[in-house]
Amino acid sequence: MNIILFGPPGAGKGTQAKMLCEKYNLLHLSTGEILRDEIRKNSELGKSVKEIIESGKLVSDEIIIKILNLAMENNKKDSLSGYLFDGFPRNIDQANLLSDLLDSLKLKIDCILLIEVDEPILLERILSRKKFEGRSDDNKETLISRIQVYSEETEPLIDHYSSNHAIKRIDGVGEISEVNQRINTALEGF
Ligand code: AMP
Repeated sequence: MNIILFGPPGAGKGTQAKMLCEKYNLLHLSTGEILRDEIRKNSELGKSVKEIIESGKLVSDEIIIKILNLAMENNKKDSLSGYLFDGFPRNIDQANLLSDLLDSLKLKIDCILLIEVDEPILLERILSRKKFEGRSDDNKETLISRIQVYSEETEPLIDHYSSNHAIKRIDGVGEISEVNQRINTALEGF
């Protein structure tokens, strides 16, 4: 089963993605996590994307597809039941790149999950997450830019996919376990 997880910054995608990957034996492909890892390692790639991430803008499609390919290549395992794309694709060009990539692997997207949370709650969550995780892009200014990028570049993907894919809208407000239960219910039958 291959899943794309959509949702604005602060919707809880990362947390839910980890739970889903464990339950369904999927490889968690979070482009944001991979980039933050590179920043932590202070690699050339990390240095080149740090400022962009802190501004809330998108890193180039070229870098994204490269790190994604590498992560899939390095984590190949026959025992995997599929992939969970978290934070990718972020725009139409990336959606087309993903489609080419999946075609070449003879795979398809089985389900698209959209976690929905209203903006005031996103801000509250992001500011409290900063205290625990210390992400340098978790601040009010960057969040506003990330939400704008999400609505301009990523949200149109929902329409893009809706003609050919099952899109499951999940209410992302509530306890982590409640949201997880809603997702599991939405995935029943896959
Ligand atoms: P995330 O953890 O998915 O919220 O991503 C954090 C930041 O990493 C984003 O605000 C972007 O700057 C960058 N990023 C992550 N994934 C992508 C992507 N697919 N395309 C472009 N930039 C990305």
